[in-house]
Amino acid sequence: MNTRCGELKNDEYIGKYVSVKGWIHRIRKQKENTFLLIRDDRGEIIQCIIDSSKTNNITIESSVEVFGLIQKDSRAPEGGYELKADKIHIFNISKNDYPIGEYQSLDLLLEKRHLAVRTRRMTMVSKIRSSILHFSRKWFTDNDWLEITAPVLVKGAVEGGSTLFNLKYFDEEAYLSQSAQLYLEAMIFSLGQVWSMTPSFRAEKSRTVRHLTEFLHLEAEAPWVTLEDLLKFQEELISFIIYNVLKSNRKEFEFLKRNVSELEKISPPFNRITYEKAIDKLQNAEFKIVDDDSSRKIEYGDDLNIESERLLTINSPKPLFVIGYPLKIKPFYVKEDISLPGIGIAADLLAPNGFGEITSGGLREDDLHKLEKRIMLEGLEQSNYDWYLDLRRYGSVPHGGFGLGIERLMRWILNFTDIKDTVPFPRTIRRIYP
Ligand code: ATP
Ligand code: MN
Repeated sequence: MNTRCGELKNDEYIGKYVSVKGWIHRIRKQKENTFLLIRDDRGEIIQCIIDSSKTNNITIESSVEVFGLIQKDSRAPEGGYELKADKIHIFNISKNDYPIGEYQSLDLLLEKRHLAVRTRRMTMVSKIRSSILHFSRKWFTDNDWLEITAPVLVKGAVEGGSTLFNLKYFDEEAYLSQSAQLYLEAMIFSLGQVWSMTPSFRAEKSRTVRHLTEFLHLEAEAPWVTLEDLLKFQEELISFIIYNVLKSNRKEFEFLKRNVSELEKISPPFNRITYEKAIDKLQNAEFKIVDDDSSRKIEYGDDLNIESERLLTINSPKPLFVIGYPLKIKPFYVKEDISLPGIGIAADLLAPNGFGEITSGGLREDDLHKLEKRIMLEGLEQSNYDWYLDLRRYGSVPHGGFGLGIERLMRWILNFTDIKDTVPFPRTIRRIYP
């Protein structure tokens, strides 16, 4: 059994002989004694004091097991406990040119990401990420949703051709999935409300702080739901995740110096605005769309970009649903509102304080002929969607769902600028190594 540093920093261990496994985080040598900071395999540290003759060749990141007595010493960092060691076992003496230190460029940290994941900051982020995944799964399980897994190798586009990654699939052309949605839709007929957590791939050509080319996509789909039901599911799911992650990862948020007071207030209901009202608001604020070197006032029919999303949520601590987008700026499967021709029954959720879109969802077109027409108008290859149209040929039902980007949610929860910081091995237009 491996006792971790975090556990040992506790009064009940004072005076006990223990051992701890980990890596050398810092070294401070004096003539007689050496102070080692040991970092365990969960990013916790404990100060270790040991006879200098036993640590002659020790280097940063060497892997060790240290044996000794736990004692209290107010000078010891992070809690005032230290380990007075009489023995050290060395698993591996690290090469002494370990490239990750206290200060280096972001590029180096990305190039050496396989080592940078050991920084305590990345450890804290990864622990929070693990909790977010755990509580996402828990919400769905507790609320009677079934988890499915959809294929990642596919024949058809979901979100439009410009972000497709092609690949050769034996003698056929295929793609990496942009969304599991169409497969989730197929499963509601036999499992009812279903959800999945799969990587989605988008060849995002612009470099932004909120786009990855591979992201973790949490998607849900259910039969016989209304848009109102879908908004409620999202409010409850997101509030549940935040409440529980704050509760179980307090230490990690403190380490990251994330002030969580606004997150603590996140609860249903979220704010709402129609797309039409949002455009009015942006026009009144003289919001301009900038394309290359020209700029013009935003108009009805324009999609919302990061700047407009920021303006709509600035200084607002609650997430905001934007409801009822024109069909023209939404994918082919969005259901038309028959009382408002040209408008889709769809909503995007914007995170507070300018963090931008974190979910997209709505009702799906369940009428065969309307859907066929939309596929044609979008210029999609009909034969790739024939299976999907079968879902409307055989017992079609009203249904809908939503998709949430885990890294987008994390970027907001962690108050990070760059989405790359939310994953251990980010994929972007410029990076697929390591
Ligand atoms: P955006 O307009 O912000 O680029 P989108 O509308 O193209 O996103 P959707 O197809 O609606 O994205 O995908 C559902 C969700 O997946 C988004 O709300 C977002 O949270 C997440 N997402 C989409 N693209 C990316 C990406 N490139 N990197 C990270 N997350 C993404
Ligand atoms: Mn979207």
